[in-house]
Amino acid sequence: MHANRPPVPAVPRSDVPEADVFTLPYWEAADRGLLLIRRCRAAGCGQAHHYPREFCPRCWSEDVVWEAASGRAELYTWSVVHVNDLPPFGGRLPYTAAVVDLAEGPRMMTEIVGCEEGELRIGMPLTVTFRRLEGALPAGRPPLSVPVFTPAQASAQGQSSSVDQPPSAEGLRR
Ligand SMILES: [Zn+2]
Repeated sequence: MHANRPPVPAVPRSDVPEADVFTLPYWEAADRGLLLIRRCRAAGCGQAHHYPREFCPRCWSEDVVWEAASGRAELYTWSVVHVNDLPPFGGRLPYTAAVVDLAEGPRMMTEIVGCEEGELRIGMPLTVTFRRLEGALPAGRPPLSVPVFTPAQASAQGQSSSVDQPPSAEGLRR
């Protein structure tokens, strides 16, 4: 140890999303335990999509609004990650990267938590939960919550999960 050695610069984290003016409602809702998707209101379309875009990826309409998702999904596919050098993922190994089909239709990249590798099954029912990113965030960044999924049965056994009855999305800005 050298007392005069300059402090080691903080290692940048690779799991902190950047919120901008458009995506801020999404991150604010996530921090309240609510998963938002986007839905097209154009006649003859009505499709939901995710990740959030300012236009409908199916018909290109800009008449697209935020909508509270049910938080229910089915497992489409997954990969158990055993090697990842990017901080802070190295401290979470192994973890399950996954693609899930939301009940509303969109397919979403996420992570499965609270499920042993041997218990994972294609089509298994899942429910959303949120990982709060705290500590070691860049200076000035407020806490941030990221949607991940867990087996629906496991969630149902929980006490009073706010996920089971998502708060109303009324009043969400477009
Ligand atoms: Zn559309």
